[in-house]
Amino acid sequence: MHVLLYYKYIDVPDAEQETIRHRAVAQSLGLRGRIFISTEGLNGTCSGTKENIEKYKQALNAHPLFCGIVFKESLADGHPFKKLFVRLRPEVVTLRQEVSAKQAAPYISPEDLHAALERDEDLVLIDMRNDYEAAIGRFRNAKTLTMKNFRDLPKFLAELEPFKHKSVVTYCTGGIRCERASALLQQHGFTNVRQLEGGIVVYCEKFPDGFFEGSCFVFDDRMTLRFPGKKPQRFISQCGFCKSPCDRYLDCAHQPCHDLFLCCEECEPTCGGYCKIHAVKPLAVLIP
Ligand SMILES: [Zn+2]
Ligand SMILES: [Zn+2]
Repeated sequence: MHVLLYYKYIDVPDAEQETIRHRAVAQSLGLRGRIFISTEGLNGTCSGTKENIEKYKQALNAHPLFCGIVFKESLADGHPFKKLFVRLRPEVVTLRQEVSAKQAAPYISPEDLHAALERDEDLVLIDMRNDYEAAIGRFRNAKTLTMKNFRDLPKFLAELEPFKHKSVVTYCTGGIRCERASALLQQHGFTNVRQLEGGIVVYCEKFPDGFFEGSCFVFDDRMTLRFPGKKPQRFISQCGFCKSPCDRYLDCAHQPCHDLFLCCEECEPTCGGYCKIHAVKPLAVLIP
């Protein structure tokens, strides 16, 4: 299966009708995934056969509003989504702040960022993703946040205060969160902000063995994205039980918990798919 990641910020006058039409197109092509439409644009990740994904891209390119999207594409064994959701949303990424992507910071291209990092230029990379995403992969020396959800970003502004007048580059998976995050930083007086164009995904396609270390988390059943051309995977994270290098997340089988936790294949049968707190077997067996 081919998997797409894409977004476009654009005024959508009749988002409700647009959502209905979009759903019909995606359904007719047998796509699965999550596509959000709002009056401010489109945000999607979906999977389908090579042929149908191609047709979908053509349909978007022929659309008066959604044309010209730069798609990020990857491969998966089978659909990494269980269903198709095409939803009308108040925002394409939830931040609930009075910032618009129209106030976003300028882009820095992956090439320019890579060159700047090679020159050891004085800049601060800020990871705008959640803590569990940064835990398994991030740019070398990046500032990461203990954020569980992007909508909490305003609470972390105080922590970023020391970088207010530094040269700042924000990054996220595919770029959509940085459109809003970089706008928020600028609104709070950050004077020198740029956002990584295309996010980690495009950077790693161009520089698979560059300054991004570990794995890239994705919000589908694959959980991590592998980049062709990357040398054997180097992990920056460990299995929560045996501490072996690991980037494999499980979703705790205890219904009210559902926490993501790192667990290698060897430890899975012993913990039974439950996190450390909810593992059924005595943890003395698991934790050395
Ligand atoms: Zn393990
Ligand atoms: Zn749990």
